[in-house]
Parts: sequence; C-alpha cells; structure tokens
Amino acid sequence: MSPAASSPPPELRRITRGSLARFAYQSDATSSSKENKNATAAPQVTDIEDAISGDSATTRKRKRAVVSSSTTTKRGGKSSSTTVKKEEETEEDEDDKKNAVAPSATPNRRAARKPARKVIDPDTQTATVAPPSDWEEMYDLVKAMRLTGPAKDAAVDTMGCERLALPTASPRDQRLHTLVALMLSSQTKDTTNAVAMRRLQTELPPHAPGAPAGLNLANLLAVEPATLNELIWAVGFHNNKTKYLKQTAELLRDRWAGDIPDSIAGLTSLPGVGPKMAHLCLSSAWGRTEGIGVDVHVHRITNLWGWHKTKTPEETRLALQAWLPRDRWREINWLLVGFGQKVCLPVGRRCGDCELGLRGLCKAAERGKVIQGRKAREETAAIKVEAHVKAEGGDEDGLVIKEEHIKREEEEVGSMDAIVNEPKKEDTDEKGTSPKLPPTKQRRTRRG
Ligand code: SF4
Repeated sequence: MSPAASSPPPELRRITRGSLARFAYQSDATSSSKENKNATAAPQVTDIEDAISGDSATTRKRKRAVVSSSTTTKRGGKSSSTTVKKEEETEEDEDDKKNAVAPSATPNRRAARKPARKVIDPDTQTATVAPPSDWEEMYDLVKAMRLTGPAKDAAVDTMGCERLALPTASPRDQRLHTLVALMLSSQTKDTTNAVAMRRLQTELPPHAPGAPAGLNLANLLAVEPATLNELIWAVGFHNNKTKYLKQTAELLRDRWAGDIPDSIAGLTSLPGVGPKMAHLCLSSAWGRTEGIGVDVHVHRITNLWGWHKTKTPEETRLALQAWLPRDRWREINWLLVGFGQKVCLPVGRRCGDCELGLRGLCKAAERGKVIQGRKAREETAAIKVEAHVKAEGGDEDGLVIKEEHIKREEEEVGSMDAIVNEPKKEDTDEKGTSPKLPPTKQRRTRRG
C-alpha cells in the first residue's frame, strides 16, 4: 500500500491548501517582523470557516449577517434569541455613535448662528456689517406666519396708525390724522388708540358755527384742552398728549403752513415726536422711507432672536439699518408688530405655534412649548392622513386594501368577460374551437 493511497482525498486537499498558504506567508515572514504579524493573521482571514467560527476581531459584515437572519426569524413568527437581539443593539449603538459625531441639523444651526457683526474686507480694508445668520429664512417664515399663519389678522393690520386716517378726508387732513394717531399710540394698545381716533374724527367740535366737526387743524387749534383731554382720555399719558397736540397744532400753523413736516428733522422737532414716529409718519403720510420705525415689538423681538444686543429702540434702529436691505425697512415694522401681537407676545409667547421655534431657528424659544407644539403638529398630520385614507375608502393599510380591491375588481371583470365572450355556437369553427381574441380586445368589446 503506497503512502498516497492511505490518506483520504478530501483531507489531503484541505491540508495541502492550508499548508501552501502557511508556507507562502512564512516564507515572507523572514523578511521583516511587521510582515510576520500579517503572516500569522492572514490565514485566519483567508479561511472562510475560521472567519465564521472565530469570535475575535468581529467584523461589521458578520454582524449584519446575523441581524438579517434574525429579521427573517421574526417575520416568520418564530422566537428570537437574546444573543441576536444583543447583537442588533450593538449594531444600532455603533450607528448611534456615528450619528453622534455628525450632529443633527438643529444644534448645528444653533452653534453656527451669529449676530450682525462688523467685517473688514482684507483687500480694501473697508468695514461692512454682515447680517445675522439665517436672517432671511427667519424673515420669510415670519412673513408667512403674518400672511397666512398664526400671526395673521393682528390688530395692527386694521387698527395700526397707518390705517387710521379717514379715507374721506382731504390728503392734508389724512396726513394730520396719521401724525395724531402716531402721537396717541405710544404706550397704548392699537384697539384703544383706534377708539380715541374715531372719537376725534367724529366728535372734535367745529371751530366755527356751520363748520364740520372732526379732526382737522382748525378744529384742533380751536378746541379747549379739557375737551380734547376728555376725548382722548382712554389712551396712556393723555394729559401729556393733550398738551403736545395743542402745541403741535400751533407749530403746524405757524411753521409748516398748516401741513405736517415732510422730513425726519421737521417731524422730530414737534413735541412728543421721536425718531420712531417720525420714520413711520414719513413713510405712511408722505410715502418716503428714510429709516426703520422701531417700536417696542421690533426692539424686543430682534433682541430675542440675537440679531443684536441693544438697549434702546434707537440703537436697534441703527443696528438694523446697518445691514437690513432697504426694501424691507418699511415692511419690518408691520411684520414684527403683528408678530409681537399674535405669536411672540411680551408675556406668554406662543413658541409651540411659531415656525421659528419649531424649526430650531429661535434661540429664545421656550423648549417645553416647542416640544408640545411639535407633538401637536405630528398628531394633526396623522389625523389628516387617516382622514384622507378614509375618504379614499380605506384605512391605515389603505394601499393594501386598495390593491386587493383592484385585484377583486379585475377578477370580477375577468369572470364577466368569460361570460360575455363565451363562444356562441355560430362563433365556433368547424373543429368546435372558438376563435381566440387577445384579452385586451375582449375587454374593449365588453365595455363598448
Ligand atoms: S420661538 Fe418663541 S421666542 Fe422665538 S420668535 Fe417664536 S414665539 Fe418668539
């Protein structure tokens, strides 16, 4: 018996292959110690059986294989082992760790947010003011909320100073109305201000017998301070305002030819008129915008957003004017006053209804309210989907049901086709077989 014949062929093949591999690596191992390490590891990787049974150096690939098998087991309705579950968790943990390295969009945006800041061009050495991060996105979202969202129909939209001039009055009187409305509006709600203005426009006594009552310069000059004070008693600081109105009426008569000034300097020279009123008055009464009208809402909200850190509305005006595009100077007052009246209220802000809070764009958002708002939104979306599916005639698995419905319909149509297209005696040929039409043709025949 020869030595070759004594060894079984499969074992011999296996030993030969392993030996060859080891021989090949060992021959390289003599060259360097580093390669020697690889040489000892290499056969473990090349041998598929060893790779599967070995537990050291577990690869992600191997875990995936286990997980996929576990998934199949679960779908089959069979029990799944604890080991498999643990491995699933390990893989998820790995994924989580990877996600943690790349944080989600919201924290990134928060970290990257910057206020308006001075930047110096390295080439020209000229200083410019860079706008705050995300300002345009925030602006557009607030505008959308003002037009169609939770901040629409604010008091300022119908009762703001710009809306209080009587349309039936002369242009000169309308300008006076705007100025008086602005003078009455400080420290006063739009609703209260509107009532006071209505009284002036209808009840201010005429300056002469037969002259019309209402708000015009002649009547304002002639009215007794006590009567005027009584007419505007609902607005804040009405005593001071009565005094300012009387003084202003005289100034307009003596220095401005009976009209209101058409410049910021002229307007601010009037008693009780500051830059905010002057800018709003100029743009509303004269149609010229030379600056931003910053009231308490604009000042408060832009500081909340972190666009700047300012102490007074006047500082805010200058800070905004340094970077905000000029075509938004007039609009921003309307935008933020209404937003401050309906959503970003001075007390009890509605962060849960605010797009800026929900999208992680507002650094002052109240977290609890935002979480509640997101939940409420998800629930509303789910209800809408459910309602839509029901309206379509299904349920949560509406698609599956729809498919089944279509299938049934097709089966019914098929069976009806069979009846309708059942070969008549005259349709059969001599051999007794019926001439076959393609199925589509048959259907068309049935449906006409
Ligand atoms: S998230 Fe809250 S604080 Fe921020 S703008 Fe909206 S309502 Fe105001």
